[in-house]
Amino acid sequence: MRVIPIPVLKDNYAYLVIDEVTKEAAVVDPSEAKPVAAAVKREGVNFTTIINTHHHWDHVGGNEELVREFPGLRVYGHKRDRDRTPCITHLVDEGDTVRIGTLEGRFLFIPCHTSGHVAVYFPADKTVFTGDTLFIAGCGRLFEGTAADMYNNMVKLMALPDDTRIYCGHEYTEKNLLFALTLEPNNAQVKEKLHWARAMRAQQRPTVPSTVAEEKAINPFVRVNSTELQANLKKQFPSLSLDPISVLEKTRFLKDQF
Ligand SMILES: [Zn+2]
Repeated sequence: MRVIPIPVLKDNYAYLVIDEVTKEAAVVDPSEAKPVAAAVKREGVNFTTIINTHHHWDHVGGNEELVREFPGLRVYGHKRDRDRTPCITHLVDEGDTVRIGTLEGRFLFIPCHTSGHVAVYFPADKTVFTGDTLFIAGCGRLFEGTAADMYNNMVKLMALPDDTRIYCGHEYTEKNLLFALTLEPNNAQVKEKLHWARAMRAQQRPTVPSTVAEEKAINPFVRVNSTELQANLKKQFPSLSLDPISVLEKTRFLKDQF
């Protein structure tokens, strides 16, 4: 498997996923058609499949134009997005699979940011595409779900092998790490990652992928059991209960205003 991040819109990523054996390729979350079509042509791949993690326009905006330009494309999305993802042909749910040449991806149903959000996980390649649910050092907004839903999603994604590569929907890494430091100012790995992310962005390079192990070390929405994070929340919200869902909810509340 080869994964090529394609920067689209202001800070989104679409991903070209190439099976190097057959040269068949899929695109994850094409918000714009033109940069995706250009990448397909440049790489000389057989583009057969669109995978949409969720229905937001900045993840599906290129579907119609791509389907016109590449007739016969298969378009995968969660069954709840039947009426809100353009050109959808394959309605999926937890455990369903997608084949791209010799690659096989498995859908993980992770509703919360939207009620039909999925990740697609390629076990043999230790790679997962998490859309707007899990970002590097962050998580998506809780538009169509609760803090309990997002907590369950974090648990599900963090149960993947530690060396799984994480490709997310936006380049939010620097800002997410700055926020993480407000709750864990002594977390050396957060500081180190921020330093690295700034250097990457100064060269216009993407900060994806991270790994499951890294997120366990730097992501405040995963680190709900951190005593430093909990203590800093308690300073602001003395009556806060320290169960993981309440901690995630308050962390998200603060991030919404950051
Ligand atoms: Zn979204």
